[in-house]
Amino acid sequence: MATATPWGLAEKETWFKQQPIRRSYLKDVVTKIERLKMSYDVVQYGTLSLNPSHYPLFLVKTKNFNPKKKTIVITGGVHGYETSGVHGAIAFMEREALKYADKFNIICAPCISPWAYETINRWNPKAIDPNRSFTSDSPAEECELFLKAMQPYTNNVYAHFDLHETTDTDNTIFRPAKALRDGKPEDPWSEIPDGFYLVGDSANPRPEFQKAIIQSVKKVTHIAPADEHGHIIGEKLEQEGVVNYPVKKLFLCTGFSNAEYTTTTEVYPDSPKVTAENCVDAQVAAITGGLDFLSQ
Ligand SMILES: [Zn+2]
Repeated sequence: MATATPWGLAEKETWFKQQPIRRSYLKDVVTKIERLKMSYDVVQYGTLSLNPSHYPLFLVKTKNFNPKKKTIVITGGVHGYETSGVHGAIAFMEREALKYADKFNIICAPCISPWAYETINRWNPKAIDPNRSFTSDSPAEECELFLKAMQPYTNNVYAHFDLHETTDTDNTIFRPAKALRDGKPEDPWSEIPDGFYLVGDSANPRPEFQKAIIQSVKKVTHIAPADEHGHIIGEKLEQEGVVNYPVKKLFLCTGFSNAEYTTTTEVYPDSPKVTAENCVDAQVAAITGGLDFLSQ
């Protein structure tokens, strides 16, 4: 196959201009974060330079941070289009986090990439995938600002839950767009799996922790089955509903700290068997399942 030319700045700018705003971060997300101020410390850690008044970025933290307690990090909206990641992170803080606050310090960044939330995109405005960009000197402002805000905690994270979705549009829109951007064809993926799964760290897989999360999510929604090759999204299944990636090598969000336990949740929102509420509930069940395991 002939090699195509990767996008330059002009093509990325053209792509950016083709992305309409489709929902409101301030209305859908920030209003909910504001309400959390009743129970938590809510701090703004930056804003997107694209439109500073429109895209304030927040951390929500349990009050009375205590260095003697272990610190838990929850991130949503690294991929802004993955709706239940954003609303699941907020729902966990609304419904469950205070129950764990005696035991843990909890820090939640509910929506790391808010322009992508509004435009229902995987990439940021510069056509960068934030979830390949958690590096020092990150080209993605969304990652750079988050990493800077997390600096005081980075060496003391005990567990990190990064909330995502795997959607039908990954195959129909985002992977084809990536092939165009990079000027090279994407490896063919199998079908998008119908059900929930987790991505652990192949360098620190923590199978019992992942298993406890799957058991908790199972009470809320169905778990993705392996395909005929024993894979999910082209990766070997390690146990029911769990694949592993080298998260630090790929500069994924869960690789940002040296947390003892990490997981990336992948909810499938396009299943005929689920609703938007059910997807949010699955994200919450994933976090509580993991925290209950860590509380034993
Ligand atoms: Zn994602």
